[in-house]
Amino acid sequence: MGWRVKCRVCGTERVIRISFDISKQPAIFYYCNVCRRNTFNDILEYVDEG
Ligand SMILES: [Zn+2]
Repeated sequence: MGWRVKCRVCGTERVIRISFDISKQPAIFYYCNVCRRNTFNDILEYVDEG
């Protein structure tokens, strides 16, 4: 389970696995392996997979 987020710089969507609730915030600063740096990521939804 985790959060589906979308990098604001390159648009890549990924699921990040963090346990705390980030739904109250509009975005999270997180490492993007496409941009190869930390970027702001829009929080799209909570996913329960794996
Ligand atoms: Zn990116």
